[in-house]
Amino acid sequence: MGRFKMLTALLLILTGGGVLHSAVGAPAVPESTGRWEGREGRILPVAVRNVQLEGAFWGQKIQVYLERTIPHSWQYMGHNLRSLRKAAGEKTDGPFNGTWDEANLYKLLETIAHSLGIRPDPALEQKVDEIVDLIGRAQRPSGYSHVYIINEGKPEWDPAFLDGSHDGYVLGHMIEAAIEYHANTGKRAFLDLACKAADEAYDHFLGPKGAPGFCGHAELEMALVELSRVTGRNRYVELAQAFVEWRGRGMVRPFGATPRSYFQDSVPLRQQRNLDGHAVRSTFFATGVADLALATGDPDYRLAANRFWDSVTLRRMTITGSTGPRHEHEAFGEDYELPNNGYYESCAACGLMDFAQRMFLLEGGSDAGDVMERVLYNAVLHGISLDGTHSYYQNPLSDTNRARYNSWVCCPPNLSRTLLQVGRYACASGGRDAYLNLFVAGTVKLPMKEGPVVLEIRTDYPWDGKVRIVVKPRKASRFAIHLRWPSWCEVATLAIQGTPIHPLPRTHRGYLRLEREWRDNEVIEFAMEMPVQLIEAHPMIRDCAGKVALQRGPLIYGFEGLDNDGKAAVELSDRPQFKVESRPELLGGIRVITGNDAEGRPIVAIPFYAMANRTNSVQEVWISQRGRTPSDAWWEGRLYRNANETKQAAVAPSPTEKDAR
Ligand SMILES: [Zn+2]
Repeated sequence: MGRFKMLTALLLILTGGGVLHSAVGAPAVPESTGRWEGREGRILPVAVRNVQLEGAFWGQKIQVYLERTIPHSWQYMGHNLRSLRKAAGEKTDGPFNGTWDEANLYKLLETIAHSLGIRPDPALEQKVDEIVDLIGRAQRPSGYSHVYIINEGKPEWDPAFLDGSHDGYVLGHMIEAAIEYHANTGKRAFLDLACKAADEAYDHFLGPKGAPGFCGHAELEMALVELSRVTGRNRYVELAQAFVEWRGRGMVRPFGATPRSYFQDSVPLRQQRNLDGHAVRSTFFATGVADLALATGDPDYRLAANRFWDSVTLRRMTITGSTGPRHEHEAFGEDYELPNNGYYESCAACGLMDFAQRMFLLEGGSDAGDVMERVLYNAVLHGISLDGTHSYYQNPLSDTNRARYNSWVCCPPNLSRTLLQVGRYACASGGRDAYLNLFVAGTVKLPMKEGPVVLEIRTDYPWDGKVRIVVKPRKASRFAIHLRWPSWCEVATLAIQGTPIHPLPRTHRGYLRLEREWRDNEVIEFAMEMPVQLIEAHPMIRDCAGKVALQRGPLIYGFEGLDNDGKAAVELSDRPQFKVESRPELLGGIRVITGNDAEGRPIVAIPFYAMANRTNSVQEVWISQRGRTPSDAWWEGRLYRNANETKQAAVAPSPTEKDAR
């Protein structure tokens, strides 16, 4: 057990996981221990520039995002750039941006910052430098930067408008863009502007004349914690803590009949049991709470993050990794309220990716990697079209024969900034431990205690479960490589240097832990069997009762009328037989699942991420199966499981396992 975990466990015992701070009025903001700094062995995500993705899946997709999505995105930024020019004192005609869409420009700038880490582009960098200069000229002398408020002459951080003014949301995205631009270009100007703006927020809320409050759209919290890590300045963590601690105390006035849960303000954090309210705000809020748990070691934050995690991943997430089913207030519903035609905004999926990544860093369990994989390969990829120039705001699992609205609003730059970080979600390292959470083809350079270790990963994942890794340490040294054993995988084999490893060194956290003295060019071969699986849902999910979905590897499949004589709601026989066929000409090159329905007619399923990429069509993920009744067998807290589970995966943890985290 690492020092951090021991301290956390001790604190948990001493406090009973209870309240550390005053629960009445505005509590004093607790001193942070500034744990980001100098903690040897801390597991951190790998930098985007340290991962070169290759191959037919991610290699090609990243190319589409760099060459088509980014150029396509500029046409939606005109009003944001005009607003900056106006705030900078230039003469310009409208229309100008509203309260929140300024964040789109920052999300695009973050996307570009990641892209520059992947592939340098001097012309693009020059364009960003010019915008950074404009941002600097638009910024108030105090550091305040929200140009909508500046241009409208409205009060800054207006307590009567904090639920909807988006001051903090916009600033959060500005900070994240600035951090990534600095990381990938080495240029400080943008980061300095972001620090100046964050300092203004600190002074406004925590200075001598500080006024308690918080932005109703969470995002700033997670950005501030990251800014603290990058700059070593603990004040940003303190401000993030204040924004979290001040919730649930009636400080921000809701607009009209909006419930306080909409902006995570219904009760103080320590009493919040579930992730509630607006799904995008909620998932960003939960990410911020997990970040604070990481940055401060405060067990209350850790407990809250875990309550939120269980709430969303065990009771409130679709099989495709979407959350937030309600159209009204774009909100989470009750437990198991997961209608197939729900709202399911793409941004909420992006938020869940970040929350899952922080939960991996916080708890080190493979369940977080499982959720990242589910969300990424299904909900997130579905949100953006295969050609990278269309986007869906919603990601329903069932759809009528209607045109989907190509919505280039908040989601597209959120999706692109998420997708260009695939390498960062995939790998993490620190001390003598390296983690592979997503199986991506490419080359990864991992910082480790004994110097960088390069992993050359060859795989046709997600189409095939074979992963070949060549390990290249700077010098022969002892460390552990942790390969996530995906929750969907029941049977797999492992070999190192051609020698089969048996029994498999599985940990209770869901990884294969390969610790040894690694020498240059040693080869790991991990082969996961990838059959077509029939998945059933928890019987409390009403829309899925008695139905099944098809899954192969991490991909959820669905049916479009286009491939099935106009019908998507097919019925399987009681013993369906499936074939997996490669269709290089279809939808960018996919593998389809073929078989017959209960009447013997041929049927074709395609990956959920590729659905809604042709003309209008009826669509279904959950389908009926002749003779199937809802299962009320023991669910062990899970939401989805293989309807024909074999239990072969139940291998005991290796007796030599050590918890190195
Ligand atoms: Zn959105």
